[in-house]
Amino acid sequence: MTAANPEELKRLLLVQDQDRGLDALAHQRSTLPQREDLQAVEQRRVELGVVEAEIAGRRHELERDQRRLEDEVALIEDRIKTEDGKLYGGEVSGVKELQALQDEIAGLKARQTLVEDQIISVMEAAEPVDAELAQVAQQRAELDQQEIALTAALAEAEVAIDAEAGELQQLRNDTAAGINQELLKIYQAIRDQPGRIGVARLVGSTCHGCHLELPAVEVDRLRKLPTDTLVHCEECGAILVR
Ligand SMILES: [Zn+2]
Repeated sequence: MTAANPEELKRLLLVQDQDRGLDALAHQRSTLPQREDLQAVEQRRVELGVVEAEIAGRRHELERDQRRLEDEVALIEDRIKTEDGKLYGGEVSGVKELQALQDEIAGLKARQTLVEDQIISVMEAAEPVDAELAQVAQQRAELDQQEIALTAALAEAEVAIDAEAGELQQLRNDTAAGINQELLKIYQAIRDQPGRIGVARLVGSTCHGCHLELPAVEVDRLRKLPTDTLVHCEECGAILVR
């Protein structure tokens, strides 16, 4: 049977306080607000990506329109060149034929002007879309800045907590060094169960682990036991410090 002298049990209470402090620091570390803020930045980045894809889609459509119209202008220019060649090449000499050629060229030139106007319209339509893209790029740059700042702040907060936890862990180890291994193992096994208190004071007939009053018979039985007998609260299982 594990012996538990009152001095060791008091130390065990202190170990538990220090373990609770370590748990609190671990919780604080895992719930640092910067971590949540970083997730929010990542979420905004995803949303921005969707917006950007939609704008880029419109921009590509305008680019395709512009290329198609420019190709058409190039074709018209080729044809005008060919027709000009016929007009001035001396192959065609009849007045009617010459007139027909000139009409053809005039028609092509009119068509060219029309298509060139359409190109200008497309380019004008692209301007606000480019502005939208620039705005998205600006927002993305801002998110990048936020991410850099938050990452640095998170690392700083983690370093501070780790330092504090390191010191507390050292204290805890020093405190635990004065307690026999068997007792520590029993304490740890209880604490490893979720929501369980490893060690608690018995004040009067109340266990300070579960705050329940032990039956008078049980309290009486405990009083009669030697002081170094290890006893547990029959309600919550905590090691009792009498
Ligand atoms: Zn209890």
